[in-house]
Amino acid sequence: MSERKHVYYFDNNATTRVAPEVIEAMLPFLSEQWGNPSSIYKFGSQTAKEVEHARAKVAALINAEPREVVFTSCGTESDNAALHSALASQPGKRHILTTAVEHSAIMNHAAFLKKQGCEVTFLPVDADGSLDLHLLDKSIRPDTAIVSVMWANNETGVIFPIEEIAAICRSKNVLFHTDATQVPGKMKIDVKALDADLLTLSAHKLHAPKGVGLLYVKKRVKFQPYLLGGHQEHGRRAGTENVAGIAAFGRAAELALAHLEEENTRVRGLRDRMEQSILAGIPNTVRNGAKEPRLPNTSNIAFDFVEAESILLLLDQIGVCASSGSACTTGSLEPSHVLTAMGVSPERARGCIRFSLGMYNTDEEVDHLLQHLPGIIKKLREISPAHAAHPAASTKTKPAKSLAA
Ligand code: PLP
Repeated sequence: MSERKHVYYFDNNATTRVAPEVIEAMLPFLSEQWGNPSSIYKFGSQTAKEVEHARAKVAALINAEPREVVFTSCGTESDNAALHSALASQPGKRHILTTAVEHSAIMNHAAFLKKQGCEVTFLPVDADGSLDLHLLDKSIRPDTAIVSVMWANNETGVIFPIEEIAAICRSKNVLFHTDATQVPGKMKIDVKALDADLLTLSAHKLHAPKGVGLLYVKKRVKFQPYLLGGHQEHGRRAGTENVAGIAAFGRAAELALAHLEEENTRVRGLRDRMEQSILAGIPNTVRNGAKEPRLPNTSNIAFDFVEAESILLLLDQIGVCASSGSACTTGSLEPSHVLTAMGVSPERARGCIRFSLGMYNTDEEVDHLLQHLPGIIKKLREISPAHAAHPAASTKTKPAKSLAA
């Protein structure tokens, strides 16, 4: 049998490895305990109990009450459901206020709603990826149904001042939704302190499998379901529950809570060492987005004069997984809408790589990346017409040894 090659995984914002403890927690619901939670007999209703246990665990992760948690199929569904509910529960209000750097789960749904006759404002960001809160405040109108602003950007890791945004929305009595998909395990989430009305999470970003998410709906917030059908989730989300996925989500939430401090510090250290080494050792590189406040695991770097795709292909040959932006926009020829909104030129945006680390990354893995990356960039620049057109641009990199600590 051929030995499996080591995967140097630096794409944790796209998805994460399922933790062994999480696999263990979900397996019974794929084997012996496969009953339908809505069934009246014990074989089914036992699985309903497991759904409730998991609900309590994910509620603890965000300091919510269990009944404020609605399980969904993914972050995208939760985002769509939030916008849908805001419009459906407030028929007179047809304006949506969001930002130009949201995940496509918000961007594309808002664009669809615009075609359906809603008005949508996409707030701009500055070169650091930050929002102008004064402009946000001014943009809220009497007919604004919802303000939806992500907590942390999936491409740059830039963190928005979500507490202040929630306070502005509260003062204007307008619903506030935040897409917190990239936050758990990296930052503390306390919905009570935050006082948002709606919040999105997705299990596969925190070491649980794909295909399960949640929408937090603050108690007393009017909610109109997005999926209509059976009475699951107290009538707030129809469809037979993904019991195994939900059990996995519950276990992953416990782990994320338990390892928050320790992993945050360690992963931040790895990320900082990687980023500083790249920026100092490879010429014509810049970080995209503010240095702080930023997720501790994310680094988005522009490598001028080279195409991100070429870098990714050569990285792949040495077992390194990274990405050129959101996984959901891979394959699109357009430069990232996030970088474009930050004023990054299309030429530069086409050479940007997102490295996103996670709890399984090690120092040795960072060394492996740092050992090979300078050579890859040098090789690509040597054959790059864009680079040849800039004779002042240096191809010299520091010796690989000095990059890998
Ligand atoms: N929102 C953000 C910020 C994300 O990063 C993602 C996934 O990349 C999503 C939403 C969509 O989540 P899912 O893949 O579970 O649909």
